[in-house]
Amino acid sequence: METEGISEQSDRTDEIVRLESVRKSYRSGTDSVLALGGVTIGCPRGSVTAIIGPSGSGKSTLLQCAAGLDRPTSGTVTLDGEELNGLDETALTRLHRDRVGFIFQTFNLLPALDVEENVTLPLTLAGRSADPSLLVDVIRRVGLAEHMRHRPFELSPGQRQRVAIARALVTRHAVIFADEPTGALDARDTDEVLGLLQETVRETGQTVVMASHDPLVASYADRVAFLSAGRIVDELNFPVDRAVIQRMTHLGVWDRPPGPERGVAG
Ligand code: ADP
Ligand code: MG
Repeated sequence: METEGISEQSDRTDEIVRLESVRKSYRSGTDSVLALGGVTIGCPRGSVTAIIGPSGSGKSTLLQCAAGLDRPTSGTVTLDGEELNGLDETALTRLHRDRVGFIFQTFNLLPALDVEENVTLPLTLAGRSADPSLLVDVIRRVGLAEHMRHRPFELSPGQRQRVAIARALVTRHAVIFADEPTGALDARDTDEVLGLLQETVRETGQTVVMASHDPLVASYADRVAFLSAGRIVDELNFPVDRAVIQRMTHLGVWDRPPGPERGVAG
């Protein structure tokens, strides 16, 4: 067995996201870059999973493969009961529209639309309309009730990311993937945004899988996988204590060179 997942001990039937021995290499000219070297991981329904690792460790690749935005070179991905290898583009598009939400570092808001229009955009594109009481509830929850008619340029970075979160919440998507969701935020906004995600998962049963280079982000998660050079080198289950994470940062767990078999040398 080449890899070890963070969910070996858990009940796999309750995993809404599962990657099994996922490898991904990219061609660049005649070379190929190994971005994921065989990752096995499972994310339980209704939990927050954090993928933590330095720049270039494969976090975005992992999320893209898990979300079906990119196809692994080998291995399998199961998302909300669907094995992604077996899905054609139409089925994948439908899966993304109906069951998967995304939050990005750069917010991905449309500048011409106001807060409410940005939040409901995925529903509008799918030809649906938001449940009005859910919309009000979500907008209030993210603290933007006073800003419904504001456009993104009138908001702070933290408020913009809360619009993106509201957009992922209002569709009631089963899984929300967040790639460096706090990468453009200061410490206070980071705290607010991650607290909000965590609270939402508790209340709605949605699942969040987020990636960050910042180990402190792990303290908002139920499960943490540490990624180094395309491999999971460590894992934590909860509750995760900030002090432990800080200690691990100082120990430089993800600075170790990958070993021949697994990510951890020695
Ligand atoms: P992270 O998100 O942790 O910074 P990435 O998943 O973006 O890491 O990248 C992992 C590795 O794969 C890096 O070495 C990166 O240069 C490489 N990589 C990512 N995307 C591509 C691509 N489209 N083409 C070639 N190499 C890529
Ligand atoms: Mg990345």
